[in-house]
Amino acid sequence: MRVAINGAGIAGTALAYWLGRMGHEVVLVERAPQLRTGGYVLNLWGVGYDAMEKMGLLPKLLELQYETDELRMVDRHGRTRGGYPSKVLQSLANGRIATLARADIAAAIYGLLDDRVETIFGDSIVTIDDDGTHARVGFEHAPQREVDLVIGADGLHSKIRQITFGPDSLFEYPMGCHVASFEVAGYRPRDENLYVAHSAPGRYVARFPVRDDKTLFFMLLRDEYLTGTLPVTESERKAAIVTAFSDMGWECPGILSQLETTDGIYFDSISQIRMDGWAKGRVVLAGDAAACPSLIAGEGAGLALAEAYVLAGEIHGHGADLDSALEHYERRIKPYAARKQRYAESMVPSFVPKTELGIGVRDLATLLMRLPGFPRLLMGRYFRDAMELPEYAMPCPEAQTPPNNSFVPTPLRGAA
Ligand SMILES: Cc1cc2nc3c(=O)[nH]c(=O)nc-3n(C[C@H](O)[C@H](O)[C@H](O)COP(=O)(O)OP(=O)(O)OC[C@H]3O[C@@H](n4cnc5c(N)ncnc54)[C@H](O)[C@@H]3O)c2cc1C
Repeated sequence: MRVAINGAGIAGTALAYWLGRMGHEVVLVERAPQLRTGGYVLNLWGVGYDAMEKMGLLPKLLELQYETDELRMVDRHGRTRGGYPSKVLQSLANGRIATLARADIAAAIYGLLDDRVETIFGDSIVTIDDDGTHARVGFEHAPQREVDLVIGADGLHSKIRQITFGPDSLFEYPMGCHVASFEVAGYRPRDENLYVAHSAPGRYVARFPVRDDKTLFFMLLRDEYLTGTLPVTESERKAAIVTAFSDMGWECPGILSQLETTDGIYFDSISQIRMDGWAKGRVVLAGDAAACPSLIAGEGAGLALAEAYVLAGEIHGHGADLDSALEHYERRIKPYAARKQRYAESMVPSFVPKTELGIGVRDLATLLMRLPGFPRLLMGRYFRDAMELPEYAMPCPEAQTPPNNSFVPTPLRGAA
C-alpha cells in the first residue's frame, strides 16, 4: 500500500516504523521544519512500554530515561507537605516504567526508520479527495499524490480529523484546565532526581531537572485563572502565565522572572477527544487525534504507541481487506481508550484542587503512599492496563530480549 501519515509525533513515527517494516510505501508528513525537540517529560508504562519493547527500543529507552528519587509537594515557604519516594511507582508498574522526554521517544523511533519511509518536513496534508478505495491528498507545499490510506497522527488538534470528520468542537471535551510547560537553562535551585511541586487553589507549578543544566517547568491552571481566550503567541502565553501565577509563593516569583529567557512555551487546553468512529473511507486516526485521554490520564503516549502497533498489526493480518483491518483496530482499542478517559475525568479534582482543603487532602494522600498497601489502594487503578497487546507476526529485526530493567519512577504521574 501507499500510506500517507500526517504528524511525526509518537503515533506517526511508530506507524511509519511498523508499516515500513511490512513493506508498505510510507510518506510521513510533519508540519514542523524538523522533528520536534524539547518539550515535556512523560511516563511510559503498560501497553506503551510493551510496544516500545516490540520495536526493540527498550535498551534505547533505558538509556534516555530520567532518574527520579522522589516526588515532593511543598508549601509556599518550600516546606515539605506531601510526596513519596518514586520507587513506589516502580513497584506498582512491576519495574516496567520510564520517565522520558516526549521528543526523545519520537526521535528514538524515527531513528529506526529506513529509506522505505519518506519524510516531508515543514508541510501538512490540507485536502483529501477520497473515493472509498483511494485518496488523493493535497499538501500545503508538496505536489498532490494518490495513496491507499491516509492516517491522521497529528495530535489533539488534528488537521486530518478536521478535514474528514469535522471541527474540533464536535469532538473536543475540555476538562476545565490548561497546561503550560517550558524549559529554562541554568535555573537555581536545582535538585537532581527530584520532582518538586507547589499548589495553590486552582493552580499547580512543578520543576524537574533535565539534561544540559536545564529545568523543566510544568504548570496547570483551572480555566478561571485564564483571562481571555487561549493565548497563541509567545508573548501572550508569557503574559497569561504571569497573570495566573504571580500571587503564588514558593519559587514562583523567580520562575516567572525566568520566562523572559525562554521560548517554545507549550500552552494548551487539557482536553479529551471522544469520537464514535476513527475511520471513514480511506482515512483513519491514531494517537491523540483519535482518542486523546489528556495528560491527566498520564498514558496518552502509551495509548498512541499501542494504537500504532495494533493498527499496523490488523493491516498486516487482514491483507487486502482494509475495511476489516480498520474495524478490528477500533474494536480492539476503543474500550481501553474509553476506560482511560473515564479515569482521567475522575482525577481532575485531585490533579488541580480548587481549595486549600482539597490541596491538603491530596497532599495527605501522597504521604500515605509511603505506607505498605496504600500505593496499590490509591493508584493501582492508574497503573492497571486492562489490555494486553495482541501478538502479530510483523517483521521486526530490532526486537531482542530486553536487558535488565533498571527503571525509573515518574514525576508527572505523582502529580495526579
Ligand atoms: C504536559 C504533558 C504531559 C504529559 N504527560 C504524559 C505522561 O506522563 N504519560 C503519557 O503517556 N502521556 C503524557 N502526555 C500525553 C502525550 O504526550 C500525548 O498523548 C502523545 O504525545 C500523543 O502522541 P501523538 O503522536 O498522538 O501526538 P503528538 O506526540 O502530539 O504528535 C503530533 C505530531 O503531529 C504534528 N502535527 C500537528 N499538526 C500537524 C499538521 N497539520 N500537519 C502535519 N503535522 C502536524 C505535530 O507537530 C507533532 O509532531 C502528556 C502531554 C502533555 C502535554
